[in-house]
Amino acid sequence: MSDASKSLRLYNTLTRSKEDFFPIDPRNVRMYVCGPTVYDFAHIGNARPVIVFDVLFRLLRHLYGQAQVTYVRNITDVDDKINARALRDFGDEIASGKLSLNEAIRRVTEKTAGQFHKDVAALGCLEPTVEPRATEFVEPRPDGKVDMIFLIQRLIERGHAYVAAGEVLFDTASMPDYGQLSKRNLDEQQAGARVAVDAHKKNPQDFVLWKLSSPEEPGWDSPWGRGRPGWHIECSAMSAAYLGEVFDIHGGGLDLIFPHHENEIAQSRCAHGTETMAKVWMHNGFLQVEGQKMSKSLGNFYSITELLETETFGGRKWPGEVLRLAMLMTHYREPIDFSVRKLEEALKIANDLITLGSQYPNGVRDTEFLRVLGDDLNTTEAIKYVQTLRNKIVHDVEGAFGSRLRFCLDVLGFEHQSIQSWTSKRAASAGVDIEQLRETINNRIAKRLALIAAKNWADADRIRDELLAQGIQLKDGKDPVTGERITTWEVKR
Ligand code: AMP
Ligand code: ZN
Repeated sequence: MSDASKSLRLYNTLTRSKEDFFPIDPRNVRMYVCGPTVYDFAHIGNARPVIVFDVLFRLLRHLYGQAQVTYVRNITDVDDKINARALRDFGDEIASGKLSLNEAIRRVTEKTAGQFHKDVAALGCLEPTVEPRATEFVEPRPDGKVDMIFLIQRLIERGHAYVAAGEVLFDTASMPDYGQLSKRNLDEQQAGARVAVDAHKKNPQDFVLWKLSSPEEPGWDSPWGRGRPGWHIECSAMSAAYLGEVFDIHGGGLDLIFPHHENEIAQSRCAHGTETMAKVWMHNGFLQVEGQKMSKSLGNFYSITELLETETFGGRKWPGEVLRLAMLMTHYREPIDFSVRKLEEALKIANDLITLGSQYPNGVRDTEFLRVLGDDLNTTEAIKYVQTLRNKIVHDVEGAFGSRLRFCLDVLGFEHQSIQSWTSKRAASAGVDIEQLRETINNRIAKRLALIAAKNWADADRIRDELLAQGIQLKDGKDPVTGERITTWEVKR
C-alpha cells in the first residue's frame, strides 16, 4: 500500500482537500470523465478536461501498469441541443421527407463525434479504454449491462423518484445528504429555484430522470411512455456499466459540479444503496481567451480544429503539441488564460524539448519526475523539471538525462516522433524559426566530434545512429583547405 514509487496525491472536490490516492483495486484502477455533447465542434475550453485527464490516464498507467487502468469517457448523443441542430442543418430534407429526424440527428452526431476524435488525437490524447454512447444505454441491452430505464425503475421502487406531469423526477428530499459535493445550502438552492417554480415538483431542486417526447421528437418506449432521458442519468448508467457501482476517480470541468455531478451522485448512490459513487472527484478550472470568457458574440470563440488548421488566432496555425503544452503549463485547477503570447511561449518550449527529446528513442523511468507530477497532477512543475533535464543535456556531454527526458515527455503525452514530423508541423505553422533545429543538430555534431577527438568511438557512433534513427544523416569529410575533420548533415528521404 505505501509503495513510495506509486505516490499520487489528488485534490478531491468531495472533501475539499488533497488526499493520498489508493485505488479500490490496484489491478483495475477505474476512472470516468464526462465527455462531449456532440452537437457542435469542440472548442479549446472543451479540450482542457480531455488533455488533463489524458495526462492522469497516462500517469496511472505508468504507476499501475498499462492493462490495469480502465478509463471511460462517454459521448452524449442525446440532447435537445442536438435535436435543434439537426432541425437547423437538415430542416429542408426533413420537411420534404428525404430524411427522418432520427437520421438527421445521426448525421449531426456522427460528424461531430468524428471531428472530436480527430481534434483530440491531434492534441496527443490517447483513446479512452471505452467510449460509450448515451443512446446505446437508454434501453435494456442484449449484454445485460446497466441501462438508464433500469436505473430509473430502481429509483422509483426504492422511493427516490416519482412520476408527475409526464416526467419522472428524482426526489431530492428522499436523500438526507443530497448536496454533499457542491455544498450548496438548501436556502441557496431554493432561492435559485424560486425564479422558475415548476408546480409539479415536490421540491424545487428535484430534477428530471425521464421526460415524454412529442411524436416529432426522438424517443424510446418506457414504462412511463415514449420519451427520452434527462441529462444526468446517462453517466450513472454508463459508469456503472463499465466501472461498477463504486469506482476510483470521476472527472470533468468545474461547471459540472452542480447540477450534473451532484445529481449523478444522487442517482447512483440511491439506486445502488452505496455510500459513495466515486472516491475522488476532480474538476478542471475554466479557460478564457485573452482575458475574456469565450463567447460567439465576443468573437473570441475558437474551436480546436480552427486553431489547428487555420490562421485565425495570432495569424498562424498552432501544432497540437503547442496547444497541449500551453494547456499543461497551468495547473489544472487554476483558471487559464489562452493568449497568443502564451502559445508563442509554449511553441518555443515545445520546440526545444521535442527536438531534443526525439533524439532519444528509449525512455528511462524517472521517479523524481513521477513524484513531481504525482502531487495533484502538477504539470506546471513537471514541465519545469523537464526543462532542468534539458539544461543538463545541453551542458553535459552525455549521461542518462536524454533517456529520462524521453520518458518524461512520453508521460506528458509528447510521444516519440521523428524530427521530420515535428519539423514539418512547425513549418506548417507560419513564421516558425527553423534555426533552432539547425542549432540542436549542430550541437549534437559538435559533441560527436569532441567524442571522436577523445577516441570515445562507442558514444560517437551512438550519436550518429540516434540522429540517423530520426532521419538525419551525417556525412564525414575533410575541409579541403585546412584538412580539418568536418561533418555535414542532411534529412534522409
Ligand atoms: P460540454 O460539451 O459543454 O458538456 O463540455 C464538455 C467538457 O468541457 C465539460 O467537462 C466542461 O466542463 C468542459 N468545459 C466547457 N467549457 C470549458 C472552458 N471554457 N474551460 C474549461 N473546461 C470547459
Ligand atoms: Zn457526466
